Amino acid sequence: MRTMAGEKSFSTWLSKLGVVAFDDGILRLSAPSNFTRDNIMSRFSDMIVKVMNSYGCGVSAIEIDVYDNNNKEICQNHVRAPGNSDISVLDKRFTFQNFVVGKPNEFAYAAAVRVAESDVTTFNPLFLYGGVGLGKTHLMHAIAWHVKSNKSHKNVIYLSAEKFMYLFIRSIRYKDTMTFKELFRNVDLLMIDDVQFIGGKDTTQEEFFHTFNELVNNNRQVVLSADKSPTDLDGVEDRLKSRLGWGLVADIHPASYELRIGILQSKAKTYNVEIPGDVMEFLAAKITSNIRELEGALNRIVAHSMLVGRAISVAMTREVLDDLLRANEKVITIELIQKRVCEFYSVKLSDLTSSKRQKSIAAARHVAMYLCKSLTPKSLPDIGASFGGKDHSTVIHAVRKVKEKLQIDNAFATDLEILRKSMEN
Ligand code: ADP
Ligand code: MG
Repeated sequence: MRTMAGEKSFSTWLSKLGVVAFDDGILRLSAPSNFTRDNIMSRFSDMIVKVMNSYGCGVSAIEIDVYDNNNKEICQNHVRAPGNSDISVLDKRFTFQNFVVGKPNEFAYAAAVRVAESDVTTFNPLFLYGGVGLGKTHLMHAIAWHVKSNKSHKNVIYLSAEKFMYLFIRSIRYKDTMTFKELFRNVDLLMIDDVQFIGGKDTTQEEFFHTFNELVNNNRQVVLSADKSPTDLDGVEDRLKSRLGWGLVADIHPASYELRIGILQSKAKTYNVEIPGDVMEFLAAKITSNIRELEGALNRIVAHSMLVGRAISVAMTREVLDDLLRANEKVITIELIQKRVCEFYSVKLSDLTSSKRQKSIAAARHVAMYLCKSLTPKSLPDIGASFGGKDHSTVIHAVRKVKEKLQIDNAFATDLEILRKSMEN
């Protein structure tokens, strides 16, 4: 930095800067005066980004706060240097090319490709949902990469809902909501990840709704992700839920065995070590919950093998991943839940999955459906189907009933805890 800026500039301006935080690609610096801040912003911000990034730091924007001598913040408005336009840093590995397509994710993948390639907004918003670690963020980054490299004039913003809230709240605190609104005004493609986060956060939700409506009304593409479908989002206003479902809702299902093998094979190619087929089969069979964990497992055995110079084998994998494998052993299925609930409440399985409305049977059925929703990755329609072909709305109703009862009935809460424990052993 010193050589690029020159000794004099460096000591006059740059040496006065402090680093406050470096998060999500945003480098927050502190300056002693407005004058210094403005000078740095106009003359040196590009250089700072360049130098930092030459060290692989991934800075996308710089912010400078002004501090007085006591290090108290006196600046009311932050100034942001326009780095590249996506607020959060995109992961280089999360491209379409690196995304392995299989039955459980082919629909979400096709929808994402369509949004990335299309010049007109066909469905708005695209709403991707699915459990943790199933590739939602990967697909969103892939859309961003594609658009950035093929239509570089388009203004793309990707950020998490949490970040959205942070920026919004900060803009209120600094009485600078204009800058916040400005940020989204000229965006062609806005992607907000993990929108379940705004559940229960009313003012943020309100602002999100405004931003969202404005963009959609202006024909700008919006892509959202969440761990649940729009209708299942907790603490989200009904009008927003319904609005979120207007475009295309695409569900990513848990990876099948075939897809898990495919992902392991594709990942294995990126390593310079030999990973035997039976090790991949072993991992795909044992680690079923999410893909992040599956990748993590492969990384661990590869790292271990590199560190201690030991060949990768099933025996070695068992040893190295002992903790992880034990945790994955306890796979809770709908069948297991039904069995345990029937034992606990002395109800016949045929009654549990029937349409009988007798109070004790209906209560046990509600509990079982609730546990299926909270302990398995199964979707509402899947759960409904396992209870004698019931509709997903029946499951939603059951889940709501149980949640209400949990609030007011401690004995009931204890029963559920016992049931949950019985399933984990
Ligand atoms: P989510 O956002 O749904 O929680 P991520 O998108 O962060 O999940 O994915 C978790 C990890 O699994 C990432 O490293 C991602 O690259 C990987 N992954 C998920 N699905 C696939 C897939 N179909 N092909 C390749 N990698 C995948
Ligand atoms: Mg994610």
